[in-house]
Amino acid sequence: MSIPFNKPYITGKEVHFIYDAVSTGHISGNGKYTKLCQAYFQEKLGVKKALLTTSCTDALEMCALLLDIKPGDEVIVPSYTFVSTALAFVRQGAKIVFADSRSDHPGIDEQSLEALITSKTKAIVPVHYAGVACDMDIIMSIANKHNIFVVEDAAQAIDSFYTGKDGVTRALGSIGHLSAFSFHETKNIQCGEGGFLGINDDRFVARAEVIWEKGTNRAEFFRGEINKYGWVDTGSSFLPSEITAAFLWAQLEALEHIQSKRKAIWKTYYTNLKPLEAKGVLKLSKIPEFASRNGHMFYVLCKDLEERTALIKHLKLNSISAVFHYLALNKSEYYLENHQIFTLPNTDRYEATLLRLPLFCDLNVEDVEQVSQLIINFYNA
Ligand SMILES: *Cc1c(COP(=O)(O)O)cnc(C)c1O
Repeated sequence: MSIPFNKPYITGKEVHFIYDAVSTGHISGNGKYTKLCQAYFQEKLGVKKALLTTSCTDALEMCALLLDIKPGDEVIVPSYTFVSTALAFVRQGAKIVFADSRSDHPGIDEQSLEALITSKTKAIVPVHYAGVACDMDIIMSIANKHNIFVVEDAAQAIDSFYTGKDGVTRALGSIGHLSAFSFHETKNIQCGEGGFLGINDDRFVARAEVIWEKGTNRAEFFRGEINKYGWVDTGSSFLPSEITAAFLWAQLEALEHIQSKRKAIWKTYYTNLKPLEAKGVLKLSKIPEFASRNGHMFYVLCKDLEERTALIKHLKLNSISAVFHYLALNKSEYYLENHQIFTLPNTDRYEATLLRLPLFCDLNVEDVEQVSQLIINFYNA
């Protein structure tokens, strides 16, 4: 039997809620299920305001509009991330300044940020890679000192937390001025394509609703706060239909189940492969003491590119699909056309050596054991 890298989880209740949404006769956005999902994020994650979007990419584009990013502005982004983290700001004309990853974790190197800031820097976009928090105390204090906004790319970070120096534990996405989550089918909670914008700074709430609704004040109108609505700002159609929201609601109801399964799989891999790390043949992910883990991803770090290629082949011969990502954005074709060269040694290392193992809610224990054993055999050979 082959083991795929990912299999999107379906709770079985999605069609029930979609049926309910359809039977109301109104399936455009901002209806009953959209409001249920948004209220859930506000209550459970402590974001001040949540707006469902059709993707995390869209939520990031809303951030670029809200921050009035213009040509000439600079935005600091890690290079080891998905394209959207940078693209949303590039579309508004920003110059992307790439930061390196930490030596012990693919997340942004907080210590490198200060040197990248100029008078043109508008925002920093930390990515909570694999759902593991960046050091938000450091990032927020640098941002506050220089009057810069922080947008958390929390695409992988649902149900994950950061404990600050004050001892308070906060959900990722509730700390920066703005945040963006993804419900793409490769994420822990999914609706095919989807996401939400988290707003933690009151100054952005009213305008975000306008940008979300094609530049109109329709949301205010529907609340009865004004007696007609019109075109008042820039924007787009960022809100998903009720069909998507109804699907997402079924997933949110099952969040605890999904998360306990994913975290257990992560733990089993970790326990099984720890002896290999102790022997010094591979490295596992390091979770800093201020961060939690949410079972989004399990990865190993091989010695070099050749070893990783051989390990992928070894697993593939046994019908197991393990994949790598990302190609460093600072070296991508699109970016290099107009921009400067960055030297990012940690990014280069993760690009060449990081390998992700199968991890999804329905993956059974025997399969996790089999994948682990094959990796152990590979290194013992
Ligand atoms: C998945 C992902 C995105 C994009 O999410 P979409 O919902 O597909 O737009 C952005 N950033 C990171 C770090 C991601 O993992």
